[in-house]
Amino acid sequence: MTDKIRDAANEHPDLTSRRALVTGITGQSGAYMADLLLSKGYDVYGGFRRSSTPNFWRLRALGIFEKVQLVSFDLGDQGSVEDLFAVARPDECYNFASQSSVPVSFQQPDYTNDVNAGGVIRMLHAMRRLAPECRFYQASSSEMFGDAPTPQGLESPFRPRSPYACAKVTAHLACINYRDAYKLHINCGIAFNHESPLRGVEFVTKKITQSLAHMKVSGQGVLELGNIFAKRDWGFAGDYVHAMWRMLQIDAPGDFVICTGESFSVQDFVDAAAEAVGFEIEWAGAGQDTVALDMNSGRELVKIDPDLYRPLDMDLCGDPTHTTDVLGWRAKTDLKDLAGIMAAWDLQEAKAARLVE
Ligand code: NDP
Repeated sequence: MTDKIRDAANEHPDLTSRRALVTGITGQSGAYMADLLLSKGYDVYGGFRRSSTPNFWRLRALGIFEKVQLVSFDLGDQGSVEDLFAVARPDECYNFASQSSVPVSFQQPDYTNDVNAGGVIRMLHAMRRLAPECRFYQASSSEMFGDAPTPQGLESPFRPRSPYACAKVTAHLACINYRDAYKLHINCGIAFNHESPLRGVEFVTKKITQSLAHMKVSGQGVLELGNIFAKRDWGFAGDYVHAMWRMLQIDAPGDFVICTGESFSVQDFVDAAAEAVGFEIEWAGAGQDTVALDMNSGRELVKIDPDLYRPLDMDLCGDPTHTTDVLGWRAKTDLKDLAGIMAAWDLQEAKAARLVE
């Protein structure tokens, strides 16, 4: 199957002439994808949302800020979405832009639906009009499976448990509808959680590694978490963009699950991150009274705040078989390595911040 990918790539021997549009380029996946595409010789156009304070730190962290063409747009605005396609004239489009927080979607369900579902339909409509030959990647989410039995794959039902997941299901179905109705090269990657040092601080893995690193360096603070028993299939964002790129290199468009095939609890991630940061911890108590203690000092490092629980939760674990068979891709980074990469980054940041103080 990897031959198929190589053949498809060979159809475009002059990679420098290929143009890629990455929406949400200021976000985690957008930044890693832009980096990958640049390394392959693409001209990269990045769709970003204008804000009062520029938000290009991820592009700077990867050393690619000067190498991408930035175009401002908003998924809520059809005209700006069309202008984005008109300017970028992409051969490939990776649509990462979205309101990506599940907890925020419970607070802002209408906005989340407008951006995450309506915004994708605006992208599809614009692409059909202005760039019908473009190959399109939609960032679908494992959250769409909700409480469907694990492991979750292409045959699993969608049983969404949040406004975020409901909107992602609508967007996913719209992609399939446009693919079938207009014969467009539209692909959906149903990605399970992917993390990295560039993950936003409102996501639990980054909150864990950043907080533990600061606590290690400063000797102060307590990490408060919600449901530490929830299980997720966690991979490295830097690995996952390779699967996404491969999806657009094969001739038949389709849907793919992007995952490691293993799931771990939030508590497991705390264990891995604590070890990477240099804490020896032990757990005590039960249920919402569970705490993690520093074995050397007896200090309380982690406790549960029930206010941080989601209104609905579930366990997620993907089945990568189809993706490995068709794309020849598999996740390379396990949970321990992932926590180690993130913790090393956050320790460095915490030490630098300490020096500035
Ligand atoms: P991030 O939150 O890091 O990035 C989201 C991006 O979307 C940001 O660049 C953000 O801009 C942009 N954005 C938000 N609203 C709008 C809008 N109205 N118009 C234009 N741009 C907007 O998410 P990730 O990179 O982690 O995720 C990328 C995609 O993958 C998202 O669609 C997410 O839902 C999906 N996904 C992610 C998973 C994960 O574990 N990371 C798992 C499954 C799916 P700004 O910087 O201004 O906020």
